[in-house]
Amino acid sequence: MSLLLTTILALATPASSREFPELELSLTLPPLQELQSVRDSESLTIDRGELLGHRIEIATHVLTRRRFSLETAEDLTDLFVTSLRARGRTPVCSHDLVEPSYRGFWERAAGRAMAVRFQRSRLVPGPYGIDPFAAELEGEIQAEPTHWPPGGSLHLKGAVLAEAAYLIEVSCSPPARGRVRDLLRAFLDDGVRYTGPVRDPLWSREEILERWRDCLGDPAADSRVRILRTEHYIIAGDASFGRSLGRSLERTYDRVRATLPFPEWPGRRLMPVFLFRRPADFQRFAAREGGGNRGFAWGDAFATWYESPADPVLVHEAVHQLLANRLRLQGGGSWFQEGMAEYLSRATWERTAEARRIDRQGFAPLDQLVRVRRLSKDGSHATVRERYAQAGLLIEHLHDTSRGPDEFRELVVRVGSLPPGDVGVLEDAMADLRGQSLTLLEERWLQSLRER
Ligand SMILES: [Zn+2]
Repeated sequence: MSLLLTTILALATPASSREFPELELSLTLPPLQELQSVRDSESLTIDRGELLGHRIEIATHVLTRRRFSLETAEDLTDLFVTSLRARGRTPVCSHDLVEPSYRGFWERAAGRAMAVRFQRSRLVPGPYGIDPFAAELEGEIQAEPTHWPPGGSLHLKGAVLAEAAYLIEVSCSPPARGRVRDLLRAFLDDGVRYTGPVRDPLWSREEILERWRDCLGDPAADSRVRILRTEHYIIAGDASFGRSLGRSLERTYDRVRATLPFPEWPGRRLMPVFLFRRPADFQRFAAREGGGNRGFAWGDAFATWYESPADPVLVHEAVHQLLANRLRLQGGGSWFQEGMAEYLSRATWERTAEARRIDRQGFAPLDQLVRVRRLSKDGSHATVRERYAQAGLLIEHLHDTSRGPDEFRELVVRVGSLPPGDVGVLEDAMADLRGQSLTLLEERWLQSLRER
């Protein structure tokens, strides 16, 4: 059959629609021939068919936001990538992560190795959810032996709704190119519509109060809560903070963005910061959530007990929050995350003092440092302090020996996406990015510290 005739036939197929009335979401599917649809469960609907000689599968996953901590659109695509990574390493599904009724990509893919090279990751504006944008990801499947013939492409779109979130996973075999890719992209752009209410990017008082009550574990916390909004933050808590704290957080935002640019996005929610007046209240919360005992960042937020706007803990946690929420870099391991937070929150003179102090006792070997699962839980208070400082000094060395800001940014994005604790992949990344083995990197780093 000629390509033209196939095109006409495919386009003559009436577009089908899928309605999710309780979610106020509707899909107008691309013009698939031989369409077969399966409502696998409340949380998964699958549509299969042919499009211009390509096998298409459209899986619409509906997840509970609270269960998966889905705060924003990119959390959906990140969840998918994380699950792929986990699957590549251990081809067993993580049932503990999955809702009992949810038989999504984990289960369907159990036992199969699959590598996807993602080429296009972006936010797209539009009526896709309670925020005025959705996250999209596109990539080619390198090998998935039992499911698709070798080679195929994946096209994902995710957004958050009031209580739920959805991820549309389009698989196409052979890989979508040209007209087919245009049709699939048009489906994701124009065929996905949410008609429910949007949320206030500045947060309502009730929304932020609810989060604060959750943190404090006190349903009657309203009367003593303070709320302050700045350009990018909403700060809530029972501590007595003022506008100078807001200015300090905004300076951190600007400093991180100057080193590691990320786009500003209209309609993006303010980032929440929760400040406890009493250390005991914070520590009770931190213990419950498995966080650090002085401050910690999780999901879209960070929390600490508040002393003053000059407290370095505030800047440290604000950097964690930006790495996770704006730069979407949650990998690399504890040394990378803590090293970045230390590097971007401390002055050079502070690091010089730390370097001289630690040098007298000796540094932890690099391959040991990068394997530590959580620096904050690794040994005594003094050891933890030292490991944090070492990690900050290592990031500083990587920055200072990069050939310009672009090379440093590339390194941060690459290393910040690596699976944690894996010395082999870090070794590969460093060889690739800097033409340097970890042994050589460590030698040069220690030498530069001695010359300080
Ligand atoms: Zn930290």
